[in-house]
Amino acid sequence: MIDATHDPALQSWVDTANAEGCDFPIQNLPFGRYRVAHGAPWRIGVAIGDAVLDLGHTGLVAGADMRALLGLDPAARRALRLALSEGLRRGSARQAAWADALHPLAAVELGLPCEIGDYTDFYVGIHHATAVGKLFRPDNPLLPNYKWVPIGYHGRASTINASGHAFHRPQGQIKGADDAEPRLAPTQRLDYELELGLVVGRGNAQGRPIPIAEAEDHLFGMTLFNDWSARDFQAWEYQPLGPFLSKNFASTVSPWIVTMEALAPFRRAFERPAGDPRPLPYLDAEANRAQGAIDVGLEIWLQTAEMRRHGLPAQRIAQSNFADAAYWTPAQLVTHHSVNGCALHAGDLLGTGTLSGPRPEQAGSLLELSQGGKVPINLASGERRTFLADGDEVTLRGHCERAGARRIGFGACSARILPPHS
Ligand code: MN
Repeated sequence: MIDATHDPALQSWVDTANAEGCDFPIQNLPFGRYRVAHGAPWRIGVAIGDAVLDLGHTGLVAGADMRALLGLDPAARRALRLALSEGLRRGSARQAAWADALHPLAAVELGLPCEIGDYTDFYVGIHHATAVGKLFRPDNPLLPNYKWVPIGYHGRASTINASGHAFHRPQGQIKGADDAEPRLAPTQRLDYELELGLVVGRGNAQGRPIPIAEAEDHLFGMTLFNDWSARDFQAWEYQPLGPFLSKNFASTVSPWIVTMEALAPFRRAFERPAGDPRPLPYLDAEANRAQGAIDVGLEIWLQTAEMRRHGLPAQRIAQSNFADAAYWTPAQLVTHHSVNGCALHAGDLLGTGTLSGPRPEQAGSLLELSQGGKVPINLASGERRTFLADGDEVTLRGHCERAGARRIGFGACSARILPPHS
């Protein structure tokens, strides 16, 4: 899996890619969609340093069809990555031709990384599931199926937005514990969920499950994902069929798909605590045990309207890690999703679920950080939050770091909350 494209010594002729801490060094090469002006056609771009390279201009692929790119077989994906790496390396003969295809990131509009087909949200964060379960069901936090079956629900792709958008605080049915009847009102418990998005590459035919040994061949890569949630709607509506309008008013995805190839140096063994059940055989494989997990450091940043007024920067309010948070691996999610014959298609998005770490301060949602809205968190501006206020902007960030490898990042996944529609 590790090849010449991962060499930490590689440098690019795009100088900003060589800077310490840059999210997009030559070892990353994530794909996304950009346009040079509003209304101009979307193009496929590769992020490099503080610039985007027009993939169409490189001559390595025909056209600007992201679905076609997602559907490449693994060997073709690796060949494309190698060609991009060679062309962007210092001293490459391609420099003169490709320099014309570079745009500063600051000068382009970044869109959804692909047209998203179907969207599923899983619930792989066991610390999140346990903490939230305690709030909703103190006696019975983790339901008995949790350690056997990857829990998920089908969401809607229609309200998944590209990073940088704003949305109005949604209205819905709310019923307080002491209320005789529900009422229709703007949510008072608006929350974020720190998640990763798995982008499906090659699909499977209906009726043909994807074996776990092949599961990652069907994944193109990963994004950051914020599954905004209205906790008051959720508490009232979630039984018996799960989340509905508490989730599908808005979601945010980061612009860049970090490929499975780029993530290769950051794999980790997948382990279960002693005494937990072993996954059923269809969800178990030697490769999945040896390196099924992925080490991704995750961060949540908050900037309130008050902070912006006073020129204060966003404040980091929690950190966690995908591998520490997740009870199931990406391969297990793909295999489980298709085990009944369900067809996955290029461009489908699988949310991981909220990725809270084991410690309370590593919570991936305000529901957990504020202990169900009971204990406000204190911000550097002197403000306090249990749930989000109008004007708040939430940004998710992610990066992979390991000795012997070049650090890579995911970019930003940001959105801002507007007051309710009047
Ligand atoms: Mn979620």
